[in-house]
Amino acid sequence: MDDSFLVFGAPAIERDEIEEVVKCLESGWLGTGPKVAQFERDFAHYKNVNHAAAVNSCTAALHLSLLVAGIGPGDEVITTPLTFCATVNAIIHAGATPVLADVDVGTMNINPERVIEKITSKTKALLPVHFAGRSCNMDDLMAIAQQYDLKVIEDCAHAIETTYKGRPVGTFGDFGCFSFYVTKNIVTGEGGMVIAKSAKDIARVKQQALHGMSKDAWHRFGDEGYKHYQVVECGFKYNMTDMQAAIGIHQLRRVGAYWEKRKLIWEQYNDAFSELSIGLPFPIENDSVHAYHLYTIQVNEGQVGLSRDEFLNKMTQSKIGVGVHYLSIPEHPFYQSRFGWKPEDYPNAMKVGRETVSLPISAALDQAAVTRVIDTVKDILL
Ligand SMILES: *Cc1c(COP(=O)(O)O)cnc(C)c1O
Repeated sequence: MDDSFLVFGAPAIERDEIEEVVKCLESGWLGTGPKVAQFERDFAHYKNVNHAAAVNSCTAALHLSLLVAGIGPGDEVITTPLTFCATVNAIIHAGATPVLADVDVGTMNINPERVIEKITSKTKALLPVHFAGRSCNMDDLMAIAQQYDLKVIEDCAHAIETTYKGRPVGTFGDFGCFSFYVTKNIVTGEGGMVIAKSAKDIARVKQQALHGMSKDAWHRFGDEGYKHYQVVECGFKYNMTDMQAAIGIHQLRRVGAYWEKRKLIWEQYNDAFSELSIGLPFPIENDSVHAYHLYTIQVNEGQVGLSRDEFLNKMTQSKIGVGVHYLSIPEHPFYQSRFGWKPEDYPNAMKVGRETVSLPISAALDQAAVTRVIDTVKDILL
């Protein structure tokens, strides 16, 4: 690829994590060990919770959270049609049935009134996604969960820094799941984290993430004498490695600094685009912190004389990487044939998905890149 192409979601990687990965390689301990334990402690401290379990992706985090929550065949889990496929796939992997409740067009988050309409005697859990880094309406969702005795698993893949009325997201539900995939707010290459209300649930997530073995490899190969392990359930291979945690430990220290950088980009975009006839992100609620994970504009052909896909092509031709978050889940053939879902049945998610464009907002962008994005968007739309 051409050097001048601005890659969407490129991570900011700095000296400290590069040196930590080298140290990790030189130590010979590449698997799950002391660095994963440290990353878990650091993340728990950052979230002000007692325990966290590192895994190899947010997809794995969601899957294990559902299993440990006791969700399985015959159960229905209500989630949003405006999300990455992993959210819905995790429900299917757990053996349960996903049920979609449409979003609000402004916040792009699941609408609690639509959730209530979808509740049946089989509903066992809610899986809200804090879209783009904006908190869902947790007061209403938690009230629904309490009334109908539902588990809540929060998909916080966009929302490491997000708070709702002063409280970090991921701490409302029974489980909070985070992603450190390359395009996310902090990265480990691939990686995820689970936090939970109950210490027992976190212990079970850790066990399930490593084959269902009762003791993890770190204890097994330590210097306190050989320890046998016991397989106590049929688990998965979802553990994070020390090489990944080596990156995460240093990325986490900069989570606030990176957030500040993205906030400044967000504000510049808001100012620069205020006179264009495109949709801009809904104003941020006063009592919440937005994680500024995605900056989304809505390109409506009737308003700008250009289709969303034509806009995407023009941006890419101008060497600016853009994203679509997301075509709504019912647009994909697999879900249509498996569940009979139709995009028209979730009109808000469909509309957002067909008009939305995510502009680059990574902490790795310098001012020249931000200016280039602004000038290019204006050139195309004015
Ligand atoms: C990225 C993402 C995931 C999956 O995260 P991985 O770490 O890549 O498995 C899940 N949900 C949402 C909303 C995401 O954006």
